[in-house]
Amino acid sequence: MKKTIYIAGLGLIGGSIALAIKRAHPDYEILGYNRSEKSREIALERGIADRVTGDFASFAPLADVIILAVPIKQTIDFIKELASMDLKPNVIITDAGSTKVEIVSAAEAYLSGDKVQFVGSHPMAGSHKSGAIAADVTLFENAYYIFTPSTLTKETTISELKDLLVGTKARYVEIDAAEHDLVTSQVSHFPHILASSLMEQAGAYAENHQHTNHFAAGGFRDMTRIAESEPGMWTSILLTNSRAVLDRIEDFKGRLDKVAQLISQKDENGIWEFFEHGRVTRKEMEIHKKGGVDSFYDLFVDVPDEEDVILRILELLRGTSLVNIRINEENREDIHGILQISFKNAKDLAHAEQVIREHTAYNITIK
Ligand code: NAD
Repeated sequence: MKKTIYIAGLGLIGGSIALAIKRAHPDYEILGYNRSEKSREIALERGIADRVTGDFASFAPLADVIILAVPIKQTIDFIKELASMDLKPNVIITDAGSTKVEIVSAAEAYLSGDKVQFVGSHPMAGSHKSGAIAADVTLFENAYYIFTPSTLTKETTISELKDLLVGTKARYVEIDAAEHDLVTSQVSHFPHILASSLMEQAGAYAENHQHTNHFAAGGFRDMTRIAESEPGMWTSILLTNSRAVLDRIEDFKGRLDKVAQLISQKDENGIWEFFEHGRVTRKEMEIHKKGGVDSFYDLFVDVPDEEDVILRILELLRGTSLVNIRINEENREDIHGILQISFKNAKDLAHAEQVIREHTAYNITIK
C-alpha cells in the first residue's frame, strides 16, 4: 500500500532518511518540512522530497508516518504541536534525536496512545557536514538504527518502521531510552567533551610552545577529530543528557587522578598495567570487529613519495566502493601509513588488501 511519509527537517539526517525511503519504496510520497527556503529548494532538486512546506502544521494531517529530524528542542516542540492537530488515526510518529529520554517523555506526556503510535529513534551515523546538500542515501549503511519504545509503541509500530527504513541498510536495535542515554553518554557524548577539552588545552599551550601545532601527529588527530563537530547539536545533547554526562566526567576525574598518582609514585608496573588494560579492552571492543558509529574498515598503505603513486593505487581499486580516502601528510610518527582508505564493509576491505598486495610491495596495515 502506498504511504505518505512526512519528514520534518530536511538536513543531513532527515534528507538521508528520505533518500533511503525512496530507494526502497519509490512509490511512497515524501512530504518535507524545512524552515529555510534554500534547503527546501535543494530537497526538491535532489529528489529528497516530492512536496515541501515551510509551515510544519500544513502537511502533518496527510501523513501515515511522521519523522521529526530537527534539533532535540525543536523535536519536543513539534511533539507538543502534533498533540493538538487532527492527524490520521494511528499515525506513526518518530524522531531522530541523539538523546532519547527527554523526547520519549515528551511524547508520553503530550501525545495520546488512542490516536497515535510513537517510538523514539536514533540513527547512529553522522558526518561533519549538515543540511539537505549533505544528505546521502548510504549514510546509515551498517550503522545502528536504534528504536527506543514508549508507552505509545504498539506491537507493530517498530516492524512497520523497520520495513519503511529498510533502504537505510542499517542494523536495527531496540533499547530502553534511559539505557540508550547512559550508553551514549559514555561512548559518544563524553568523548566529544574530551576531544574539545584536549583541543582547548593544546590551543592554550601552543601560545607559549609554538611547536605544539607542528608536532601534533596521528594520535592527537585521532583523539580530536570530533572536536570539529557542529557546536549547536552537541550543546543540546549535553543539555538533554546532563546527569549521565556529569557522572561520566566525575568518573573520569577519578581515573585521571589515579594515573597521576601512578606517575608521581613512579609506579612502573602500575603504569604498564594501565596501558595494557586500555589496549586489551580496546581490542575486545566492537570497533575492531564491524562498522559501528562512525567506524569504517580502514586500510593504511605506506606509499613512497613518488609521482602518481596514489593514482596507481586508486586504479587498482577501480570498481570497489570507497567511503573515504585520506593522505596523511603530516608528521609520520604513529601514523599507520600515509594513505588511508576507508571501506564500508569487510568484503571491500579484504578485496582491496588483496589487490594492493598482489600488485605492489607497499606495506599495508589494517585497523
Ligand atoms: P542538520 O543541521 O543537517 O539539519 C537540521 C534540520 O533542522 C535542518 O533542516 C534545519 O533547517 C532544521 N532546524 C534547525 N533548527 C530548527 C528550528 N528551530 N525549527 C525548525 N527547524 C529547524 O542536522 P542533522 O544532523 O540532520 O540533525 C537532525 C537531528 O538528528 C538532531 O536531532 C540530531 O540530534 C540528530 N542526529 C544527528 C546526527 C549527526 O551526527 N549529525 C546523528 C544522529 C542523530
